[in-house]
Amino acid sequence: MNNDFAPFSIARLPRIEFGSGALDKLPDIAAGYGRHLLLVTGARSFVESEAGARLFADLRAHHLSWEQVSVAGEPSPAFIDATVAALQASRFDAVVGIGGGSALDAAKAIAGLLRPGNPVMDHLEGVGPELPYRGPTTPFIAVPSTAGTGSESTKNAVLSAPGGFKKSFRDDKLVAEWAIVDPDLLATCPPALIAADGLDAFTQLLESFVSTRANPMTDALARSGMMAARDALPALHRQQSAAARSQMAYASLMSGICLAQAGLGAVHGLASPLGAFFPIPHGVVCGTLVASATACNVAALEARDPGNAALAKYAEVGRRFAMQKGLNGVDARRFLVDTLRRWEAELDLPRLSAYGIGEDDLARIVAASRGGSMKTNPIALSDAELTHILASRF
Ligand SMILES: [Zn+2]
Repeated sequence: MNNDFAPFSIARLPRIEFGSGALDKLPDIAAGYGRHLLLVTGARSFVESEAGARLFADLRAHHLSWEQVSVAGEPSPAFIDATVAALQASRFDAVVGIGGGSALDAAKAIAGLLRPGNPVMDHLEGVGPELPYRGPTTPFIAVPSTAGTGSESTKNAVLSAPGGFKKSFRDDKLVAEWAIVDPDLLATCPPALIAADGLDAFTQLLESFVSTRANPMTDALARSGMMAARDALPALHRQQSAAARSQMAYASLMSGICLAQAGLGAVHGLASPLGAFFPIPHGVVCGTLVASATACNVAALEARDPGNAALAKYAEVGRRFAMQKGLNGVDARRFLVDTLRRWEAELDLPRLSAYGIGEDDLARIVAASRGGSMKTNPIALSDAELTHILASRF
């Protein structure tokens, strides 16, 4: 426990409704902003589900009207601009995003740009003029239907130009007004998605916990999120249960809060070019790399910076996972890495080669991984170390 409270800042969070049945609160919450909504959903599943049918009936009963946009795959800047242009004539009182990370990120970017109307490239980090975003936003309500990205509690929308880049539109003003987190929505999530998204959430918790920008408040949330995931992730992958759904929805929500406040690390640094250059889902990148990247961070810290606070934190997670308070640091960290390796196998995470990634691609992936998340990794990793992380998962 860190008793030395160095100064820290906590940026704005959404108001949060969490729990089984929370979706039923959406119509009243949305009606608080007005009568005309934009619904941004994933390609199909929610719209066609029982929960979707119930929600639409409920919205009608509340005399709400809406237009609907669906998002297929990870959203591109061109998709955001075209959607904003097509909807300019309508005046929406709120934007409701319902779906996985792609739907929520698209909804967040659209809510940010509907009123200003300018292209999203004006603001994307690292690839355009990076003009400051001034708003105004349209009030945004986020309803996650997967447990993974934590987009419901973050201030950035990740957009992908296929074959080119994967970058964030980021501003405190983009944070959702409300996050409505209803674990029941995970009931129809297939096991492969539970695995990849759940390991994304876990990676976000672990990376923000050992981040150079971690603070005591995000640490507390990250700890509770990691403990929830430890118990629930393999269980939910094997078999659906209300308890495991609720724990994973909680872990995901905490992961978004922590990453927005404390930043991430090497896995997400590598995820940016991997997701930009190859058709590999974000959750799969995280799930397939987290064990190797954690092993690499631990080895680098033990060799070059043994006094680094992150080493004690990795050991703390290992002790909590092993439920052995007396475990020494080296053994506790080994237990953590071994657990992550076991998850990688048990949850059946695909390897990078399944997406056409090979030896020839290493140099350009590593070269493009240095921005953003990599900067808050607890230790600077060499090109050789990053290459080794990737090569271990071909
Ligand atoms: Zn992530």
